[in-house]
Amino acid sequence: MSQPLSVSPSLHDRQRGALLGLAVGDALGAAVEFQPPGSFEPVIGYRSGGPHGLGPGEWTDDTSMALALADSMAEVGWDLNDQATRYLQWRDGGRYSVNGRCFDIGIQTRRSLDRFLATGDARASGSSRSDESGNGSIMRLAPVAIRFAGLYREDPAQLATLAAESSLCTHASSQCLSACRYLAVVLAALMHGADRRVALTQSWTTISSLAKESLHPEIDEVIRGSFRENDPPLIKGSGYVVRSLEAALWAFHDAPDFETAVLRAVNLGDDADTTGAVCGQLAGAYWGESGIPLAWREALAQRETIVGLADRLIAIS
Ligand code: MG
Ligand code: MG
Repeated sequence: MSQPLSVSPSLHDRQRGALLGLAVGDALGAAVEFQPPGSFEPVIGYRSGGPHGLGPGEWTDDTSMALALADSMAEVGWDLNDQATRYLQWRDGGRYSVNGRCFDIGIQTRRSLDRFLATGDARASGSSRSDESGNGSIMRLAPVAIRFAGLYREDPAQLATLAAESSLCTHASSQCLSACRYLAVVLAALMHGADRRVALTQSWTTISSLAKESLHPEIDEVIRGSFRENDPPLIKGSGYVVRSLEAALWAFHDAPDFETAVLRAVNLGDDADTTGAVCGQLAGAYWGESGIPLAWREALAQRETIVGLADRLIAIS
């Protein structure tokens, strides 16, 4: 009698998983975006509808921006102005959209891209105001962690710096930059097969000694375990980057599988697609593409485009 094989996902599988997980989480949450928790039939799979009237498996701005970022990195390398230019192509021309048009965009992102259009300087176009700390840059972050996964071992502080740079064009507050720095390092750790408990407790400690930069105190509080100590209603599917990161970590940290993690995230309601997208990056990086339910992978809109972009990043990683 043969023994069942227990094979842990490869780095490649986990890198693909991070981008696919982002899109799957976005698509699962899209149908209940903006709905208060408890006010809807719990999400158990793709469904049509929601504020944007999408079909099952279709996704929103979170995935569009991640695809624009991935395409930029694959085409031209690391160029913040090129990244912002592609976000504008999405905003104004529907490129990278699931249906050829931009049907949802965060207020901060819209304003920042207007500033970029006027100045041509992506590094300075995002607001650094504390009260403008949306989750619009952590939602699209996976491509940075996929492309620069190797830096996790070589130079994690540099990985954190690149993650923060990717946020600057639309989200430049200390909260947003800190969240991106932390999330990128955790994603890369998970891609390298780090134990989840270790990755979620030690990643920042490991690199902070190298980076010599402090994190925003509210992000620091999340990293120190607020997501373990609290439950809904304190945990919220909020658009505020601190609460959004916390909610995604809450959903992921002790879930038994990808499906449970991402459904926990989207069933928090409110900014469900984005909580799902952030949790989906973590869960995808941890369980890999192979850990995402096959039915969800197969019914995901533009799956081949998403996998193709992930593979282009993996090829240069
Ligand atoms: Mg969205
Ligand atoms: Mg959203």
